[in-house]
Amino acid sequence: MKVTVDSDRCRGHGICLTLCSEVFALTDDGYAEVQVPEVLAEFEAPVRDAAAACPERAIEVTG
Ligand code: SF4
Repeated sequence: MKVTVDSDRCRGHGICLTLCSEVFALTDDGYAEVQVPEVLAEFEAPVRDAAAACPERAIEVTG
C-alpha cells in the first residue's frame, strides 16, 4: 500500500499525524508530508483512518 499527500490540498490541521505519526510528519511550513511512502502492514489501518479523517481529502491511498 502506498500513500501520498497532495500539498495543494493540505491545510496543516495535523489530524493525520495524530492518527499515525509513524507515517506522517509536518514540514517546517506546517503541512503534512509522508515519511514512508510504502506503508508497512502494521500502519495500514491508521493510514486509512487518516485518509478518511482528513478534512481536505488531501491523503490518497493506493494499493
Ligand atoms: S489531516 Fe489532511 S489537511 Fe490535515 S495535515 Fe493531514 S493531510 Fe494535511
